[in-house]
Amino acid sequence: MRELRDVLEQTQKNGVAVGHFNIADLVLLKAVFASAQELKVPVLVGVSEGEREFIGVRQIAALVRSLREEFNFPIFLNADHTHSLVKALDAAKAGFDAIVFDASALPFEQNVHQTRKAVEAIKAINPSTLMEGEIGDIGTGSEIHEHAPDLSKGLTTPEEARQFVESTGIDILAPAVGNMHGMLKSMVQGKTSKHLDTERIAHIKKAARVPLTLHGGSGTGDEDLRKAIAAGINIVHINTELRVAWRRGLEEALSRQPDEVVPYKILASPVEYVKHVVSSRLKLFNGG
Ligand SMILES: [Zn+2]
Repeated sequence: MRELRDVLEQTQKNGVAVGHFNIADLVLLKAVFASAQELKVPVLVGVSEGEREFIGVRQIAALVRSLREEFNFPIFLNADHTHSLVKALDAAKAGFDAIVFDASALPFEQNVHQTRKAVEAIKAINPSTLMEGEIGDIGTGSEIHEHAPDLSKGLTTPEEARQFVESTGIDILAPAVGNMHGMLKSMVQGKTSKHLDTERIAHIKKAARVPLTLHGGSGTGDEDLRKAIAAGINIVHINTELRVAWRRGLEEALSRQPDEVVPYKILASPVEYVKHVVSSRLKLFNGG
């Protein structure tokens, strides 16, 4: 079985990106795995601190590992936005393939210091765990936001990116390039979309020379995502779009079958709704 590191190298060569989808339950995991399996493309499952707490750190690791082993399939697990060393260590010990250590709310020098410490501690446990670091401001919360935050001052510069990668030893960098966590109401309605600074991505890629992750991909237009991947993005995070689909699928099933109580008969609908989103994003990320 290939490791995540090999998969990322391959995506860099092929000019495609790995889809990263956050999950909080078995409905989402089933949908993500089924889509990736149908399209025969590698996939990354992400769990934030809240999502990990809900499923269980070791439990989600066991679930993803069982899929990878039974189906001999490149499905990988990422500890998304980990804000403390303790939680990063828990994920490494449970066997996560990658950890996003997020100290981006701190001033640059402190972010460097904390991230370097986390990289050293995690690599001491398992040198093959990939470590991702974050710089810049991309907002918080993969939810529906009323107003757009002003993130213009928090955009990552190529020089910061180079310095951050060199002084922390991270394997993957998540820059701020016009992306944002969550979606605005108008984006959920399909009236507006996010725009990415693709020129900045290309400059950052040249300076940082590591795989790049785009967080907050939900609500970004297809063409912007295509250009971002061509400019050097190797992992794209989608969360809010899945959450919206999960809720719509559940509402549809409950209103269609008001007397149904069998969970798997109700939950078949959210699985289909989420699968639809994951499949279309995976096709796009893989050059479709
Ligand atoms: Zn994120």
